[in-house]
Amino acid sequence: MMNWNWPDNKRIALLLSFDIDAETLWLTRNDINERHLVHMSRGLYATKQGLPRILKMLEEEGLKATFFTTAYTAEIHPEIIQYIAAQGHEIGYHGYLHEVKDTYEEENALMDKVDAIFRKLTGKRPVGVRMPDGIV
Ligand SMILES: [Zn+2]
Repeated sequence: MMNWNWPDNKRIALLLSFDIDAETLWLTRNDINERHLVHMSRGLYATKQGLPRILKMLEEEGLKATFFTTAYTAEIHPEIIQYIAAQGHEIGYHGYLHEVKDTYEEENALMDKVDAIFRKLTGKRPVGVRMPDGIV
């Protein structure tokens, strides 16, 4: 059995991550969703109600997390993404519009586009990646 210790004699390591899909999850599921206020309000709920609760909990517990978000979400809610980054949390790649590309070249071009948007907002290059829909 391997004998290994976490730094500072901690007993466990915990990785917290959240997806901020917001409206993009609905925009990419069905063409009519853009005009479907119930679906769009579900997406908006995440940024207006769910996310502040998560951020408050993390602050109270002194925890940092990774927030995977789409660049579209970052563009329409820049103050949210800037706030999260300023709190010391990581902003990770989750596509531009929660889409999945078919080729390496297409995905790489999309990552470059997202990288530029995130760098402009946070000053940092996104390092963590969570592919939309869990497709690798
Ligand atoms: Zn997602």
